[in-house]
Amino acid sequence: MKFEVTILGSSSATPVFNRNPSAQLLNCNEKYYLIDCGEGTQHQLIRFNIKAARIDYIFITHLHGDHYLGLVGLLSSLHLNGRTKPMQIFGPKALLEILEIQFKYSDTTLRYPIEFFAIDATASAQIFENSDLLVKTIILNHRIPCTGFIFEQKQRQRKLIKEKTDEVPMAYYTALKKGLDVTLPNGEVLLSEEYTTPPEAPRSYAYCSDTLFDERYFSTITNCDTLYHEATFLHELLDRAKETHHTTALQAGEIATIVRAKKLLIGHFSSRYKTLQMLLEEAQSAFENTELAIEGRTFQL
Ligand SMILES: [Zn+2]
Ligand SMILES: [Zn+2]
Repeated sequence: MKFEVTILGSSSATPVFNRNPSAQLLNCNEKYYLIDCGEGTQHQLIRFNIKAARIDYIFITHLHGDHYLGLVGLLSSLHLNGRTKPMQIFGPKALLEILEIQFKYSDTTLRYPIEFFAIDATASAQIFENSDLLVKTIILNHRIPCTGFIFEQKQRQRKLIKEKTDEVPMAYYTALKKGLDVTLPNGEVLLSEEYTTPPEAPRSYAYCSDTLFDERYFSTITNCDTLYHEATFLHELLDRAKETHHTTALQAGEIATIVRAKKLLIGHFSSRYKTLQMLLEEAQSAFENTELAIEGRTFQL
């Protein structure tokens, strides 16, 4: 099953050096989930050839502009392009008010319904579930209420071995895929183990932006497969990071080690860094399997 993320924006605060503010597109089993929607996100979707119309779920971490100022533009374009299917949006309660006031004063009635889910930023909770995955909030420590999100794939069913099941009546497929053995009317027993292969292990993707280094959220992301963590500054600016409630690249690497992530992506780079190699090396000094969340790149999760 496809489980990958494409980076649309990796800049903190302002667009600079061709970097856009935060946004990522998660593709899970060909369903599209947008995570944050900084200014310019719809331009990035066009640039990377991603159809915005396919996005059905949007998750917004917090109300600093670099994480949501692209949302009204994106929602308006979808309206103008004739969307009718609902859009589910998960975010801080006040986000709905912001959206409504924008549409009120432009006398816009969207052609499609927005299903809005207000997030409680005080306690981690499951906020979404479908047949492919679960989404839970991560309670981050920022200047204003901020939640990250962890996307956890569900356990899949076993897979039929086609060459062996050609002769088996289809009515028995469901049981075999569930791992159940089947007894045929003639008394023959079909062992699930012989007719199927084990499913892929479910994987998880944790998205943490923006936050101070704070042990309280580590338990929510323990053992995640891929961790995206903000790394706004080099560690020499630790005081600045604390002041602005952000993380350094070294701390991002340390967090990945502490929570036993398999892979780390860092992003949300400060506008003071024209090149990012130093941030990468610093994070790698604490956690080797680190990569930069470079815009346009797609990472298998
Ligand atoms: Zn930010
Ligand atoms: Zn912020």
